[in-house]
Amino acid sequence: MNGKTISLAVILGDGVGHDVLPVATEVIRAAAGAEGVEVEPQVYDYGALHYLEHGTPLPEDVEGLVRGLAEKHDAILFGSAGLDPRTPEDVNCRDLLRALRFELDLYVNLRPSPLLHPDFCPLKKDAPIDLVVVRENTEGLNVRVGGNFKKGTPDEVAIQEDVNTYKGVSRICRYAFEYAQRHGYPKVTMADKHGSIIHAHGLWQRVFWQTSEEFPDVEGEHYFIDTLCQDLLFRPEDFGVIVTNNMFGDILSDLCAGLVGGVGLAASGCIHPGRVCMFEPVHGTAPDIALKGIANPFAVCLTGRIMLNELGLGEAADLIWEAIRSAVREKKTTADLGGSLNTREVGDYLCAHIQKSSA
Ligand code: NAD
Ligand code: MN
Repeated sequence: MNGKTISLAVILGDGVGHDVLPVATEVIRAAAGAEGVEVEPQVYDYGALHYLEHGTPLPEDVEGLVRGLAEKHDAILFGSAGLDPRTPEDVNCRDLLRALRFELDLYVNLRPSPLLHPDFCPLKKDAPIDLVVVRENTEGLNVRVGGNFKKGTPDEVAIQEDVNTYKGVSRICRYAFEYAQRHGYPKVTMADKHGSIIHAHGLWQRVFWQTSEEFPDVEGEHYFIDTLCQDLLFRPEDFGVIVTNNMFGDILSDLCAGLVGGVGLAASGCIHPGRVCMFEPVHGTAPDIALKGIANPFAVCLTGRIMLNELGLGEAADLIWEAIRSAVREKKTTADLGGSLNTREVGDYLCAHIQKSSA
């Protein structure tokens, strides 16, 4: 951050990013502005638009592109990558998303799932739900180490290695405890399966409890992942920060998102503290409704809330949260949440609410 200005890369990507990103950017600007910080967005057309203009969704050197973005900006806001109504099926900017996560070593996938309104919880339970999945984002089963032997024959062997390093596990556990401390959560729950995945999750056990000793004011708690899935349905209000590996975190964060209303509201940050980070909604390109101006901008606005929090603008982040809560109460929402507004109208409501509350 250069004094009171945040340089923000806004990457439209494919599909619905074109509807929701410009609107959410205005909401983020309004919220930061209320804290006296100017957000200067620079919009990049990588993805479908780049393809229509240049014949490819991305420049050739994607890693170089990512390094350039990180040098130039303070943060990156990403739409989504996948199907776009304007381009052939196999054209998309997925490689950019992967390069951003790995090239910038964004080892935290932060997925908060706070319940905005009791109606959004499918359990029909009036309990305060505030779950935060801290998912390891650079290791595990997702590193693409492995291979096939005798591929395509009845004797085929497929091996996918689960990579867990001392460095990787310690830094994600530490982040979870620091997050709990910073945001006032009393405990951190670690989920693994060390009874059967003895080597990799044995490491998680040792490192988690070791890290827990450095945070005497935050309780450490362990759950087996399967038991946790069940208990999250029975008593979601008893959990807060949950730290786990890449694959379990992927699944668990969707379960948590489902408990508070699903993809239209799910936000995430790919974070490496102290470095330029990338923030993205959880939903995909929504090809069925993309480019019609009717998509729900809440997920990207809530993504902006995570971003502002990470940039140290907690008050601005709270303004976005309060504006969205008010929109939900007043039914100023898009059709997927039962309202009748379009994307732009919801954005205007949020900006006006932010201006009013900060005046
Ligand atoms: P999706 O999230 O795009 O859509 C699922 C459903 O949710 C659709 O009915 C869609 O209309 C709705 N939806 C999504 N975002 C919405 C919004 N902002 N407002 C209102 N409704 C919304 O998932 P999908 O249909 O499985 O995938 C579509 C494409 O997106 C695929 O190409 C997939 O690979 C890609 N994808 C990308 C990401 C990502 O970039 N992180 C994540 C998931 C899927
Ligand atoms: Mn997922």
